Amino acid sequence: RRCGTTITETLGGTILMKIAVFNENQVGVINGDNVVDITELTGWNKEEPQRSLVQLMKNFNDLKPKIEEGLATCPSYPVNDVALRAPVPNPSKIVAAPINYILHKEEMNTALTVDRLGFFLKSPSSIIGPNDTVLLPFKDRRVDHEAEIAFVIGKEAKDVKAEDAADYIFGYLALMDITVRGKEDRPWRKSFDTFTPIGPWIVTNDEVEDPNKLQMNLWVNEEIRQSANTSDLIYDCYKFLEAASSVMTLLPGDIVTTGTPEGVAPIVQGDTVRIHIERIGEFSVSVDYKPGI
Ligand code: MN
Repeated sequence: RRCGTTITETLGGTILMKIAVFNENQVGVINGDNVVDITELTGWNKEEPQRSLVQLMKNFNDLKPKIEEGLATCPSYPVNDVALRAPVPNPSKIVAAPINYILHKEEMNTALTVDRLGFFLKSPSSIIGPNDTVLLPFKDRRVDHEAEIAFVIGKEAKDVKAEDAADYIFGYLALMDITVRGKEDRPWRKSFDTFTPIGPWIVTNDEVEDPNKLQMNLWVNEEIRQSANTSDLIYDCYKFLEAASSVMTLLPGDIVTTGTPEGVAPIVQGDTVRIHIERIGEFSVSVDYKPGI
């Protein structure tokens, strides 16, 4: 059965891929407007999607020709007809940059930036997928959106220099670092369940080319709230990987998120929040109260 044709984009003969997790934790590659189910083809275990992702990344170069063949034979569905899940389901950690854009530093009226603040950790249990719902835990606290470019670690990284960092990044995704404003430490304010929407899929490193020159926009309902370019990062993706890996070993499947530009503002019940990053894609989540509050 012929279910697909050929992948739409190549770069110097290399297959460029967007890898999605969908429906019952199946894995797929995006081919035009379709997602091609490569679950069986790649030996992906739906019961252990994070472990399967790590295996897929480890074996990716060997799997590529097989996946390319599979585009013609594997089941294929319109992306609009499937439920996209978080493309990195359960990393060992989410390493996150504080204050990594100058204009965000100014709007937060704060003294220090990433070079002095280092980084913080967000709980992996705060991850939700594209199309899920952010649940506000309070009715009387300000909760903000933060649009960020994030990446997934492809191989163990310790003391990696910025110039070598690209070799350790498997691919990129869009991330919202949802945040309660206030005096508590960042991990508390940013780790509530549902506070890390990610998606819409992982775009492989080679497809992104230069992650430090991408336009990033975020809208609440139809109002644009954040519009910036990753060229304004203080520590760019590679430098931030260097800084993080100088402290802790980054494991395959970990997420690193690089911080938000200016324009952060509150979200409230009923909002729809949409993020778009050039070359990566877009997704939107809705906002509601946590049940019972
Ligand atoms: Mn942030």
